[in-house]
Amino acid sequence: AAKALGRGTYAEFEPWLEERDRERAQLEADLKTAIQNDEFTLHYQPLYDVELRKTVGFETLVRWHSPIWGVVMPGEFIPLAEDSGLIVALGEWIIRNAIHEASGWAEKERVAINLSPLQMRSPRLLPTITESIEATGIDPDRIELEITENMLMHDSERNVAMLHEFRKMGIRIALDDFGTGYSSLNYLRSFPFDKIKIDKCFVEDIELREDCQAIVRAITQLAAALGMSTVAEGVERESQLQWLRGEGITQIQGYLISYPVNASELSDGRPFNEDRHKWFRLPGTVAD
Ligand code: C2E
Ligand code: MG
Ligand code: MG
Ligand code: MG
Repeated sequence: AAKALGRGTYAEFEPWLEERDRERAQLEADLKTAIQNDEFTLHYQPLYDVELRKTVGFETLVRWHSPIWGVVMPGEFIPLAEDSGLIVALGEWIIRNAIHEASGWAEKERVAINLSPLQMRSPRLLPTITESIEATGIDPDRIELEITENMLMHDSERNVAMLHEFRKMGIRIALDDFGTGYSSLNYLRSFPFDKIKIDKCFVEDIELREDCQAIVRAITQLAAALGMSTVAEGVERESQLQWLRGEGITQIQGYLISYPVNASELSDGRPFNEDRHKWFRLPGTVAD
């Protein structure tokens, strides 16, 4: 009765909340059939090495092309897929397809794949990855898994053991969205990550903000001292790149280099121009 009253109260003062709940439920229901209906695609965004001045890998970013909702971005549906457990099946689809795709890349760049916490707990994760490696013959050294801090918050012992398992196979592990969660520094001790991805919120106004410059500098130096490389996310301007270069960042990722592009756009670009940095800048429209 208390619950019903609670909902009634909400509906009375904030009718939009009920509307949003309904929409969320519908979105979640549609998401359930989306895998069978083949509504997902993978986009790839270059990871550009600042020293080598070339693209050395691509991050896999999933998109949902819903006949009802249009293109839905992962920020909207990944949390829903997490709540409903659907992320396990979707994540498996993503891993298989991304590795399959990457195994065909002529220049053998790395492929980075985002993992969500629930996936990490699934007994299907390890076999999915080993099966994909065996089926494609890809060098495991080309696979990079991106995890976030919250994965080390719960089930941390089990998850760290899993990360070591991947590491033994030759797979690389990156810590994503660094600096946005809790007690980040402590997590750096829990596993020797290959790479730290500095969240775009620190990069956004780096030219103007001394606090962001200081934070990026500290993270970069800390990473170097720990033997980890760094990636700056969300680099959109040359002036940001200049700052990041000055701080000794290893790689950058962002619209300055390229929007995330789909598999056919990616293959259309081959053979690449010598200056990939320029080639990958798709002027004007967002490729999504
Ligand atoms: P993320 O892993 O931190 O991915 C980076 C996000 O930043 C992507 O958003 C990318 O499109 C966006 N981005 C890249 N360059 C720029 C830039 O220059 N400026 C700005 N403003 N943004 C930029 P996207 O594709 O919407 O993905 C959002 C998040 O959804 C990802 O954040 C990741 O946490 C999650 N996600 C995406 N694909 C997957 C997936 O396959 N599996 C899982 N578990 N999560 C995924
Ligand atoms: Mg990521
Ligand atoms: Mg990130
Ligand atoms: Mg992010």
